[in-house]
Amino acid sequence: MKQYPFLDLALACAPYMDELKAAACEVIERGRYLHGEHTRALEQEIAALCQTRHCVCVSNGLDALRLILRAYKEMGRLHDGDEVIVPANTYVASVLAISDNNLKPVLCEPREDTLNLDSRLIEGLITPRTRAIMPVHLYGTPCWDNLIVEVARKHGLLVIEDNAQAIGAMSDVAGFNGTHATGGLGDAAGNSFYPTKNLGALGDAGAITTNDDQLAATVRALANYGSDRRYHNIYQGYNCRIDEIQAAMLRVKLRHMQQETDVRAAVARAYSEHISNPRVKAPVIFEGMRQVWHQFVVRVDDREAFRAHLAENGVGSDIHYATPPHRQPCYSSLADLNFPITERLAAQVVSLPIAPPITPDDARAIAGIINRF
Ligand SMILES: *Cc1c(COP(=O)(O)O)cnc(C)c1O
Repeated sequence: MKQYPFLDLALACAPYMDELKAAACEVIERGRYLHGEHTRALEQEIAALCQTRHCVCVSNGLDALRLILRAYKEMGRLHDGDEVIVPANTYVASVLAISDNNLKPVLCEPREDTLNLDSRLIEGLITPRTRAIMPVHLYGTPCWDNLIVEVARKHGLLVIEDNAQAIGAMSDVAGFNGTHATGGLGDAAGNSFYPTKNLGALGDAGAITTNDDQLAATVRALANYGSDRRYHNIYQGYNCRIDEIQAAMLRVKLRHMQQETDVRAAVARAYSEHISNPRVKAPVIFEGMRQVWHQFVVRVDDREAFRAHLAENGVGSDIHYATPPHRQPCYSSLADLNFPITERLAAQVVSLPIAPPITPDDARAIAGIINRF
């Protein structure tokens, strides 16, 4: 029986193994392990991809989001206790970045079609302390529409994108600067290159993308002990640097990302066309926007039996995410809140294999297995 592992990172890297090894060796031999030319070049390449003026590469995606919020505090745009609207069904890291900065996460239900923050609910959540919105482009589907732009402008809110799952995606609606790439739609964005993300390093890495000169300079200083020049500290900062070796790995991966995304899109289309089991609801493919399919997430009521059926037929699966942030022990302060859509999604979602080397033919075979459930 053919096996379809949910994700095998070594297999996903296999087509580029020689390029990755050569790039790693070159960094090792050159002896410049931080602040090197791969980091500088990667920043330019990511800025081009996200259509932003600036990119600051950092240690990981959570740090990217934490640094953005901390920088806006240093710039006087955010203060302790200010409220940030964030989807209730996000990965916990979005919320961690907010609470870590003594800001208050205000959770918002998602839409049933996009599974992204429901922009129609934002205005109802606004209070005198609301200062920012953090749309999350969940599973690689852009979270952006005219209403987000209007509400942010009307109430003077910062928009900080959590682009950890969607680098390379394109929105159908233009962002603040008239461009369409996620990571460049709002005021600033946090990007993650965690190995399982659609652009993954061989370890931890992340990036901040923005068109704001002052924000870029502030996060760059904060990520390097708070120093604006050597041995001169203007902030009580952190060490959130990216390794040169990870920057080199990411530049190799980036060369192939477009083609990999095209395959992911073809796999998503094959799944959607061939899954015909009424018990299994496939995600919506939106014409006009470019989804990058970090995950392909179906919804099913009888999840345990479904996953057991997949496993019996050699198909790996995963859950993103079984427990929403407000149900995590660390957020007991949010435990009294109820988000029926978020909670239902948490009980129903199943992620199917979509990362390389999964092909559209594999997706057709897996759809056949799904239809026999
Ligand atoms: C992965 C992820 C993060 C955090 O990125 P790391 O690089 O793992 O720190 C933040 N938000 C979302 C939505 C994520 O999926």
